[in-house]
Amino acid sequence: MKFATTAIHAGQQPDPSTGATVPPVHVTSTYTQDGPGHHKGFEYSRTDNPTRRNLEDCLAAIEGGQAAAAFASGLAATTAIIHALLRPGDSLVAFSDLYGGTYRLFERVFTPWGLDARYSDSTDPAAFAGLLDGSTRLIWIETPTNPMLRLLDIAAISRMLRNVNASRPADKRVLLAVDNTFATPALQRPIELGADLVVHSTTKYLGGHSDVIGGAVVAAEAELLTPIKFYQNAAGAVPGPFECFLTHRGIKTLHVRMARHCENALQVARWAAGRREFAEVIYPGLDSHPDYQLARRQMTGSGGIVSCVLAGGLTPAQRFLSRTGVFACAESLGGVESLISHPATMTHASVPREQRERIGVVDGLVRLSVGIEDAADLIEDLDSALAPR
Ligand SMILES: *Cc1c(COP(=O)(O)O)cnc(C)c1O
Repeated sequence: MKFATTAIHAGQQPDPSTGATVPPVHVTSTYTQDGPGHHKGFEYSRTDNPTRRNLEDCLAAIEGGQAAAAFASGLAATTAIIHALLRPGDSLVAFSDLYGGTYRLFERVFTPWGLDARYSDSTDPAAFAGLLDGSTRLIWIETPTNPMLRLLDIAAISRMLRNVNASRPADKRVLLAVDNTFATPALQRPIELGADLVVHSTTKYLGGHSDVIGGAVVAAEAELLTPIKFYQNAAGAVPGPFECFLTHRGIKTLHVRMARHCENALQVARWAAGRREFAEVIYPGLDSHPDYQLARRQMTGSGGIVSCVLAGGLTPAQRFLSRTGVFACAESLGGVESLISHPATMTHASVPREQRERIGVVDGLVRLSVGIEDAADLIEDLDSALAPR
């Protein structure tokens, strides 16, 4: 089946007892057994819940993986991967332009635990290869990155790893994890390009309506998910049935929403590129973008995020952010409604200034999460926020 059909039907079999076309939300913590150990496959909702399982089946199907585990947030999903697959003393290699919360998790939670997190400033697979050694278990990338929208070549990194892994025993293999939150499987399928694990903040485009927090791990091979499923139950950061229902409902319209996000973002980016108030406009769908060719190859659309640098820095950026009306000044992204944020003081406030500026998160940078409202209204809103008054 093609993507749209899978997104709508995977994990959505009608309820066998009533025929309900949309499966009921299983709001229960426990399951009545005929006798000790005689149950219908469910015992306790931390371990498994039918509404969660439906979501997990759908997530695995839309990413082209064999199995998925849903978590209470994107960062809970990331935590599960590190805890389940790495041991103190192990290292991971990440690209330095990283979601601020992931960087904080690596540096402030897992470094004290014994993780050695290394960062490449270059998108070149050879630069990643140069940071690997016998302690490395994982390469962690986001593509496009947040908020600089750099792209990493998933297939090229995967090919590099295949060479590295050829001379390693199976249990010392370096795995490739891709945070696919920005692109979503509607635009980019990391597993088909060679990734072992896909991570999501389902809070963003998958949920899509800014009303639920959630995360997920999808594994190319079911065996790789086994320790993560164990961790999901053992540590317990699971989403509740209502969260799973909302996320699953969001996924059914992902493909149509992403198409409109891409269209609107391109229009906003083209408008911004023509305004002298912006020193720089960053969007992978503009041919001025350094990874424009890779975007065309690796993604089927350029996404809904546009980053712009206000000429003049902090003061004009803050003025711009406080003057928009349709664009709400808020953290997060990926909902139907447009949001505007200031990475330096919001999402990336936990990244030290020096590191922040090295990756391009300067004081004048604003990030637009372009929603699916009418593009003309969005552009008029941004236009009026720039106007002198
Ligand atoms: C939001 C986000 C996360 C964290 O997800 P939460 O659901 O907020 O825990 C991780 N990666 C990316 C790219 C994100 O945008």
